[in-house]
Amino acid sequence: MKKKIVVIGGGIGGLSAGIYALKAGYDAVIYEKNPVTGGECMGWNRKGCHIDNCIHWLTGTAADTPLRQLWETLGAIDENTRYAKTDRFYTTRSGGKEATLWKDLDRTEKELLEAAPEDEAEIRKFIQYVRYSEACTVPVDKPMDMMSIGDYIKLGKSMANMPKVMKEYGKIDLRQLAERFRSPLMRKIIANYMPPEYMAYSLLVSYATMTSGNGEIPVGGSLAMTERITARFREMGGELHTSAPVKKIIAENGTAKGIELASGEKITADYVISAVDMSLLYGRFLDRSYTPKDWAAAYDRYKDYPVMSGFQTAFITDDSFSGEGTVFFDCEPIKIGTRSCDMMSVKNYSYEKSFAPEGKTVIQTNIAQYDADFIYWKSLSKEEYKAKKQEYAGEIAKRLIKEFPGLDGKLELLDCWTPLTYERYCGAYHGAYMAFITKPGVKKLSCSGTVRGLKNVYIAGQWIMSPGGLPVAAASGKFAVQRILKKEKRPTDI
Ligand SMILES: Cc1cc2nc3c(=O)[nH]c(=O)nc-3n(C[C@H](O)[C@H](O)[C@H](O)COP(=O)(O)OP(=O)(O)OC[C@H]3O[C@@H](n4cnc5c(N)ncnc54)[C@H](O)[C@@H]3O)c2cc1C
Repeated sequence: MKKKIVVIGGGIGGLSAGIYALKAGYDAVIYEKNPVTGGECMGWNRKGCHIDNCIHWLTGTAADTPLRQLWETLGAIDENTRYAKTDRFYTTRSGGKEATLWKDLDRTEKELLEAAPEDEAEIRKFIQYVRYSEACTVPVDKPMDMMSIGDYIKLGKSMANMPKVMKEYGKIDLRQLAERFRSPLMRKIIANYMPPEYMAYSLLVSYATMTSGNGEIPVGGSLAMTERITARFREMGGELHTSAPVKKIIAENGTAKGIELASGEKITADYVISAVDMSLLYGRFLDRSYTPKDWAAAYDRYKDYPVMSGFQTAFITDDSFSGEGTVFFDCEPIKIGTRSCDMMSVKNYSYEKSFAPEGKTVIQTNIAQYDADFIYWKSLSKEEYKAKKQEYAGEIAKRLIKEFPGLDGKLELLDCWTPLTYERYCGAYHGAYMAFITKPGVKKLSCSGTVRGLKNVYIAGQWIMSPGGLPVAAASGKFAVQRILKKEKRPTDI
């Protein structure tokens, strides 16, 4: 009889765990609390439009890479996948000037030099190091702790240029990198796309993913990709239970025996893979005492271990909207949650015709929110929360119209959502989009993929490896199954 693996959570990490469990010859059963799978890799419909929650870029779309192979195994993409026609990472407008980080690096270099000739040396260096960063890959063959010396040498060779990037940009954050530039526009380009607390190299690596053609957006967006992965799991014989929240992991004598659902039903299993937010594993499914010390400390010190979330709005407008791709622009200061900001962004989804009726387009804004903002939203009553969301959405609309006067009278709010939405919908710690932000000088957390003191529980999900995101979530499911195979002394190449 086949052994049975129960997976908690049907996000990308959980679906990946399910698919790799089947591939390795186990029975796999996924329990997902929501009516649909996908977790944060999600999209939803409003007023005849589609709102995409996730994929701004999918790392791993370039052919012949291990990550691409992983996505193909999951059914996320294949050789017939079509990608959105986008030519840029983002555009920044400030002080009457504008510059774009194009997919074409030569074009970017030329335009940045024209926009900020006083920063020629820094711009040329930035461009050169983005080229170096194109070599950066997410290791997805096996967990780092299962890698041999030979594997490390191979990985090192494939990322030969990354040490240069880390030497130059590996110890500073984006705010510090921005300060190396004299032009106010360049400073804003550097410091505004990601949280300024992020390590500087994150921006280079993310941009390099685009310039190297390894970060496309599959047509149909996040929901369509989740549906393809879910279909793959089912086709392979996986059993999926949606609207089936898990209450806890059943443990006896230091060994997991299965799970208990919120309905009270008990499910036995040989192995349990937790693919939910780490804070749920250690606060809800298991007693808090199982929490590794460094993780417990990180939850207590959110200033050192911040997470990023956002206040987002989606509007429908007509397709004469002039903003292309993602545009950052100066705006009248706006305080959302506890933070004031004087720059905001709008993303035009016109590249995805299926998201809006003909002649229309969906545009979305995102104002970064952090832990203190989450606490602010949490402190509101239900009525206050609703009212604040509407008030802020109105303020956002005013700023959009000021920057793009053609929008006047043509904006209809589709939806607005907050860090609490991600907590409610996915159980995300403080509404986090990704794992903890790694700050310079703060110890990076690692995850062993197992629970100390409890056998037969394995961990998947984006929190297992910094910085999180879809590639890490996808790899994490495979890693969890490889750990089980290793324990059973079976070959781990799957
Ligand atoms: C706005 C936004 C934009 C993003 N953009 C990108 C991008 O462009 N590129 C990129 O790589 N990444 C992006 N990400 C990050 C990416 O979405 C996540 O890294 C990834 O989806 C996380 O997957 P996961 O499986 O680890 O976790 P989750 O998606 O959180 O999945 C966990 C699942 O567990 C379920 N669950 C929770 N509690 C229970 C319970 N009690 N019982 C059963 N199930 C439970 C949840 O409902 C959820 O389905 C973005 C995220 C956000 C929010």
